[in-house]
Amino acid sequence: MSESLKEVFTGNFTQQEPIPEAAIEAAVAVMRSGRLHRYNTLPGETGEVALLEEEFAAFTGAKYCLAVASGGYALGCALRALEVQPGEPVLTNAFTLAPVPGAIAAVGAKPVFVGVTEGLVIDLDDLQVKISESGAKVLMLSHMRGHIVDMDALMYICNGAGVAVIEDCAHTMGASWDGVPSGRYGVIGCYSTQTYKHINSGEGGFLITDDEEVAARAVMLSGSYMLYGKHTAGPAPEVFEKIKYVTPNVSGRMDHLRAAILRVQLRNLSQQVENWNARYRVVEDGLRDTPGLTLIERPQAEHYVGSSIQFLLLDWPDAKIEALVAGCLKRGVELKWFGAPEPTAFTSRYESWRYAEPQSLPDSDRVLRAIMDMRLPLTFSLEACAMLARIIRDEVQSAR
Ligand SMILES: *Cc1c(COP(=O)(O)O)cnc(C)c1O
Repeated sequence: MSESLKEVFTGNFTQQEPIPEAAIEAAVAVMRSGRLHRYNTLPGETGEVALLEEEFAAFTGAKYCLAVASGGYALGCALRALEVQPGEPVLTNAFTLAPVPGAIAAVGAKPVFVGVTEGLVIDLDDLQVKISESGAKVLMLSHMRGHIVDMDALMYICNGAGVAVIEDCAHTMGASWDGVPSGRYGVIGCYSTQTYKHINSGEGGFLITDDEEVAARAVMLSGSYMLYGKHTAGPAPEVFEKIKYVTPNVSGRMDHLRAAILRVQLRNLSQQVENWNARYRVVEDGLRDTPGLTLIERPQAEHYVGSSIQFLLLDWPDAKIEALVAGCLKRGVELKWFGAPEPTAFTSRYESWRYAEPQSLPDSDRVLRAIMDMRLPLTFSLEACAMLARIIRDEVQSAR
């Protein structure tokens, strides 16, 4: 085909939908009140942050919810709430994003990486090996790019070994395994409300748990001073009596402005999940049976949120992957190569996190090298998604 006849995509991969009008109105009302700080409420008033926490607890079915400044903050707060000590090993996925090992390093603990399967989930055989080798008592499980491992099998291993699980649900807000919401298997679930995730407040996050002492520590850690009584989605005051003198304040609160815009978006989340998945399925169908390209088959028990799609180019030489990425980009399609030797933009591989002890995962390296990723913002129409798949398919065929 001559260059001029080739389809070119003109959508913008970083363009999210605008904030809904009702959320803008709620934000303006908060600004008019001047009361932006979460504890700056009138007598008897429950602020936007506390209401958001109640609503997110109800959405996930958790007993307690704390809204915080970012997803990364939630992860660090979770480790502190579990009293992880400096020098302690903490297991996590080799395939994840930098804030995850970063949260472990931030409490002075040591990231121990667990391998990834061709299904892009944590390798449960390697998990068992790493639990016994490291003696770790905490796993920070990242549902990276929304891929959920068999949670019953994972919990069986972790419960058997006395390993507490923190779930990083940055890409699984609104997702579930076997009908149980993501974030509800582990002792703590952490979420992000940053612009690229599923509800958008620029920055922000949540921590959920059913454990009253963990919840009380998290509230104190987040910077509650002695105002924890204002946490209507937090534990009873007696629980704070046990921990209030020994839990440091590591400020990272959510504010009323961001909470106000999140509350409106949370109400629409289930519909948005359907909208993402419709786009995901169009791209998936369009890429099916492309020679050289491996799709990730999604398990029956997994209800995912298709806000991005991944495929593998197994055993392709680097030069060919680079040529494909360049060919797609020329036609307006932004693919991210997680396996690129040099970290770029949001992506990096575990060897790039050199504050952690060097670790070798040869089986995972083959998978990591092959991972291609594409965002699917809701501003793309279904027709646009079909075009994305046609372009990738075409470029894969010529790059091979
Ligand atoms: C975005 C992200 C985080 C951290 O969230 P922030 O709100 O950006 O701090 C953690 N884990 C993963 C997998 C993420 O993609």
